[in-house]
Order: sequence, then structure tokens, then C-alpha cells
Amino acid sequence: MAARPAPYLEELNAQQRKAVETLDGPVLMLAGAGTGKTKALTTRIVHLLGTGRAQPNEILAVTFTNKAAREMKERVARMMKRDVEGMPWMGTFHSICVKLLRRHAELVGLKSNFTILDTDDQLRLLKQLVQAAGIDDKRWPARMLASIIDGWKNRAWTSENLPAAEASAYDGKAPALYAQYQTRLRELNAVDFGDLLLHVVGIFQKHDDVLAQYQRWFKYVLVDEYQDTNVAQYLWLRLLAGGHRNICCVGDDDQSIYGWRGAEVGNILRFEKDFPGAEVIRLEQNYRSTPHILKAASGVIQGNESRLGKELWTEAEEGEKVRLIGHWDGEEEARWIGEEIESMQRGTRGMRPYGLDEMAILVRASHQMRAFEDRFLTIGMPYRVIGGPRFYERLEIRDAMAYFRLVVSPEDDLAFERVVNTPKRGLGDKAQQKIQRMARDNFLPLHEGAQMLLDAKGLTGKGAGELQRFLDNLQRWQRLDASPDVNHVELAEMILDESGYTEMWQNDKTPEAPGRLENLKELVKALEQFENLQGFLEHVSLIMDNESEDAEQKVSIMTLHAAKGLEFPVVFLPGWEDGLFPSQRSMDESGIKGLEEERRLAYVGITRAEEVSTISFAGNRRVYGQWQSQMPSRFIDELPEDHVEVLTPPGLYGGGYGASGMRSSLEDTASEANVYNSPGWRRMQARGRQRPTSQPRESRNLVIDAEAVSTFAVGERVFHTKFGYGEILALEGEKLEIAFDKAGTKKVVSRFIVSAADADNIPF
Ligand code: ATP
Ligand code: MG
Repeated sequence: MAARPAPYLEELNAQQRKAVETLDGPVLMLAGAGTGKTKALTTRIVHLLGTGRAQPNEILAVTFTNKAAREMKERVARMMKRDVEGMPWMGTFHSICVKLLRRHAELVGLKSNFTILDTDDQLRLLKQLVQAAGIDDKRWPARMLASIIDGWKNRAWTSENLPAAEASAYDGKAPALYAQYQTRLRELNAVDFGDLLLHVVGIFQKHDDVLAQYQRWFKYVLVDEYQDTNVAQYLWLRLLAGGHRNICCVGDDDQSIYGWRGAEVGNILRFEKDFPGAEVIRLEQNYRSTPHILKAASGVIQGNESRLGKELWTEAEEGEKVRLIGHWDGEEEARWIGEEIESMQRGTRGMRPYGLDEMAILVRASHQMRAFEDRFLTIGMPYRVIGGPRFYERLEIRDAMAYFRLVVSPEDDLAFERVVNTPKRGLGDKAQQKIQRMARDNFLPLHEGAQMLLDAKGLTGKGAGELQRFLDNLQRWQRLDASPDVNHVELAEMILDESGYTEMWQNDKTPEAPGRLENLKELVKALEQFENLQGFLEHVSLIMDNESEDAEQKVSIMTLHAAKGLEFPVVFLPGWEDGLFPSQRSMDESGIKGLEEERRLAYVGITRAEEVSTISFAGNRRVYGQWQSQMPSRFIDELPEDHVEVLTPPGLYGGGYGASGMRSSLEDTASEANVYNSPGWRRMQARGRQRPTSQPRESRNLVIDAEAVSTFAVGERVFHTKFGYGEILALEGEKLEIAFDKAGTKKVVSRFIVSAADADNIPF
């Protein structure tokens, strides 16, 4: 009797159905973005349950994030039309491995209540070992060792099976330290993150009976985003599926974006070799995006040499072209996107109205979020940051702000506690307790208690000297903060440098460190819009207080990495500038491979959009108070013209920010700083949509840099970002003495000044 297929199968195309119904043996679904891989994978689970092939606890389903696992459970429940109890083995590699390791901890010499060390603990432990080995940890920081060991664990190398070629790492000392570290962890009944997988792989390799038990137990293995698995994860999967070979992996080589964390796109390409006879299913129909969006994305990814290559098509209506817009600077870009989101809520340019939940901003670097968060908080636009803390909640930002707080109000004991030993000043718990006691006994704030303790010789050794230096610095910064001659932006840089805080992250060799340094730069940049440190701190405390209710609809802000697998009707892709995206660091470190991974990120970004995808770049970004001119991203050049619409920046035509001034300043920038001389911009111009028609003004570089300085003269009218207009009284190297119209006579640093004639053109 031919029964009607289950309704969930009717929603699928023929290829997807094949992937769902081929229950026995290995299946690989290798297909581009939005072709319904995750949908097919989820349906496969429903089918396994629905046909009684497996019970919920017999399915091992690995997703990339916990969020994805939750969503998958919900989708299964919806399709099954009942709550799926259990599914205990649906989760990330790490969450699943924790469970497995708790069951078999004794096999690797641990107790089942082992602790999982966080990065701080891990570093402390490594540092002890490094010191005990008599290694100069300034030259060979413990963080570097941590990162080496982490890389080894990603490749499933234990200290016993480390390849000989690795022996020279860390001055030849890393292999021995690795072994000691593992011994120490075992003594502490602890594991680090990488161990979770490595221990389980080790158990499977050494204990056939345990492996056999799980091979029987997990009747079906399913893996989403397979292109981003690393070697350890790959081995783990191969072992588990080695018996019945009922493994279904889905992925897209064009979306492999975790090479920098040890992911091996080769895993997906090798699947057929590892599992001979595998059913390889290719999906080509895209159900997510409009043709313009798809073709724009394909155009970009074609720039990569090493790819399998696949064509996507869609039945969706043409829809909007990918929109491209250039802005004067990053703040302007944030402002425009804020306004565009508001108009899209109402329905604009003939498009339907969109809810805030339907819109997302995807950035390359997390420091880019700051401009959007500030802007959105100012205009009261609800937003959420996905996959990480909000900008002002990040560790390094809170540390830096604690320094600023302490300078502005020395009695801020919480801030004092936070930074007194960050970076390390040899003030351990004992020393800090002494400071606390002294302060409490004498009813003093901590900084005074600390001074009293030092005066009373209650603290000796290295810590005492460092503490005195810290307190002296603090006093000096306070004096500078009170002085009208000192620019608060410079002071902030000084504080971060002299305290050793910036250096702490410069010496840090973890993958997060460069991002943290960028965030610190971004923080300093944010200061420029305020009168002084205090004004800025007030701003932050106010906006942080402004968190909107959770139930409300919100715009999502996240990194491109965090956006993997997700989709939104409307996507904004800001900051497409060479160096930012593609990231300079990625290209410096990994050359052409790095560039190709960046290009895959661009592909991931564009293909998150269902209906409207907007790419933008800024001509200038301010870094540490310096204007830097930016070149539009090379990926912009790779966008196929037919699928792109160039939007006019508001300043160019009748926008609200001084149309004519903006136009001429853009031209100035174009002529001098080359911003719009890139092929991308020239092509945009050639498309003839918005070539400004004004006469080019006599050229003058508006990019405020060292060269601009030399052009100032005594008697010239100038504009300062903080004090407004004034006249130059005297020049003295970098310093200018200026009689300001409103703020009186001050000495200021030249890089915050432009000629008054040009000032009107800058959208401060
Ligand atoms: P990515 O590579 O970005 O992870 P994907 O291949 O996993 O994408 P899905 O997220 O599964 O794609 O699907 C993309 C969109 O297409 C989803 O909204 C999904 O519901 C829809 N979709 C998938 N298959 C079909 C189908 N056969 N009919 C209608 N819609 C579908
Ligand atoms: Mg997916």
C-alpha cells in the first residue's frame, strides 16, 4: 500500500529527500549557502524518530553553537508536533564531550567531577611551569605556550605522539612543558577546553570496548557545518561512526571560516575517501535569497582558486540588487545605517516594512560594533549583540574604563580593585588584603590606604615598588586630567600605555589579543566626541543603563563568524575596506590562504540576506585621533556590476549633513588621499549614478595627519574638535597656541585641528 509521504517530506525537494531517506550508510551533503542543508539535516532527525529507526537518545547530532542546537531541537519538535523529550546528544562537540568524559574520566586518570579550567586558570598554571623551568617569560610568554598547546590539541597531538617537527616550538621547550602541564592538570583533577575532545578521542582509541559501546549506542551520527571541524573533531567522528557508518555530514567548502582555529576544510573534501561508497548529495536550489543577492555572492567567491565550485539558482523574484554605499567616515556609516533601519521599519524605496527582528548588522571585527552600539543607544534603537558581550561590557574595555574612573574619581574603590594588579604588579591576594585592611581601619579610600601602607613599610619587595609607581602615576594622571592644556584623548592613551595595560595585551599571544587591542583603540576613538574623561564616563553609564526590555524587537549585531548558518531578511555589511575586510592581519599571517578565508567570510555575509543586502565602506576612519584614509575593499571590486545598485551617500545629494560641504570634502579626499581612486570607487562612478557635479575646490587635504600640520601659520583661523574656532597665536612643533573664540587661549596639539575653511566640510 503506497502511503502518502509524511508532511515533513513534502516540504523538501528531491535531492533533500534523498538525503533524508538514505538512512543507512554515509551521506555527505555538500552544497552552497541557503540550499536547505540544515533543514534537510533536521528533517532527517524527524524521519529517524518518525520511522522508529532511532530513539531520541540514540541520535548524535553535532552543531556549531549551542544556539543552533536549541533551534534544531525546536524545529524537530515543531515538525514532530510534539515535544521531543531527551535528545541529550544534540549539541556542540564540547558540550557532548563533557558528558562523555564525565562518564569515563577514570580512564584518563581523572575523577568524574573534574573541573574545566578557564583561560585565566590555564595561564596561571602554565606560568608556574614556565617559571619553574627557569624560562624568561618575558621572551617566552606563557600565553604563547598556551596557544601552541591549544593548536596541538586541535590537531589531536598528545604530548606522547607529538611529531618530531614540533620539537623546536617555544625554544625547544614546549614538548616537555606540554607533558608537565598535562600531569599537573591530572593532579588538579582538571581539564582545559582542548582536553575535552582530546581525552575522549584517546579513550576511544585505547579502549575498544568503550568505543564499541558508543558505536552501538549512537545509531546515527549527524553533523552540521562539517567544513569547520578540526582534526580532533574529525577523528572523534570517524571513530564513532566507524562501525555502522551511519553518518550524515553537511557543509559547504565555501563557508569554511575557522581555519585560524585549526579547522581543516580538507575534512569535507576527504569524506568520500574516509567513507567509501558514501552518497554524496549536492543541492543547488537556494531557498533563502533573491537572485541578485545570490549572484553577487557567487561573483565574489569565484575569486577563490581552491574551491570545488558550484552554481546556485533560485526561483525567488529578482528583488533588490545588492546595495552599495560609501560614507565619509565610520560614524557617518553608523548614523546612516541607523536611519536606514528606521526608514525600513516604515517601508522605504518601494520595499515592504521590516521589523527590527528581521534586520542584522554583520561586522568583520568586533570593535566595529562600538559605533553602532553608541549610535543606537543614542537614538533609542533596541539592539542585541549576538555571540559576545556588548562593547562596553568587554573585559578590556571594563579594565580601561576602570583606569579612567580612577583618574576621574580616585575614591572609586571598585575601579581600584579591578586595576591595581592588572597588569600584574606583584600584588597578590595577601598584599591586596593588607591594602583593604589599612583603608578600612582608617576610613580611607583604597588608594590612600595603599599609600599609608607603603609609608608604614607594611609592604615590601617588588610589589611595594610597583604599587608606589602605580599610585604616583595615578596622581600624575589626575593632575593632567585637571589641566586644561591636556587633551583627554591623549591622556587616555597615556594612561593605557604608562600603566602597562596596552603592553599586557601586546605581549599576549592568544588569538583574542589583537581584537582586544583593536577594541582599546576604538575606545580611545570614542572619547574624541566628548569634552573630557568625565563626560565620556557619564555617557557610558547612562547608555548602559538604557538597556531595553527583552521582549522587545531588536536589531541584531554580530560578527560575520557568529552569523554562520543564520538568515535575516535584511542584512547590513559595514566596513568593507581593505585592511579591515579583508583583514590585514589575516593576510599578513596566512597570505593567499588568509585572503581566501576572508573571501569566504564575504560570501557567508552576503548570503545571510534573504531580501536586502547592503554593503558599505567609509572613506576615513579615525584611529588614535588620526584620520586614516581607507581604500574600499577589494571584494567590492569583485561584486558583479549587474547585481549591484550604488546608493548615494546622504551628504552628496541633499542629505541632512551639509550637502555641498560633504561633496567637496569627498572630492578633496579623493584627490589627495586616494580614497575614491580605487577601481571599486571608479567603477561606481563610471556607473554614473552619482558623480558629484560641483566644481572641484582648490584642493586641501582634509585627512588630518602629520603633513597637514606643517601647513598651519600664525594668524590662521582654525577649528579644534573640542574648543571650536580660534586663531593661531604661536606655533611650537606639534603644539599650537590658539586664541579660541569661546574657550579662551589654549595650547593644543596640532592633529586635532583643521583650517577653519575646511572645518565646515567635516561632519563632526
Ligand atoms: P547555510 O549554508 O547558510 O547554513 P543551509 O544550506 O543550511 O544554509 P537552511 O538554513 O537549511 O540552508 O535553509 C535556508 C532557508 O531555506 C530556510 O529558511 C529554509 O527553511 C528554507 N528551505 C530549505 N529547503 C527548502 C525547501 N525545500 N522548500 C522551501 N524552503 C526551504
Ligand atoms: Mg545551515
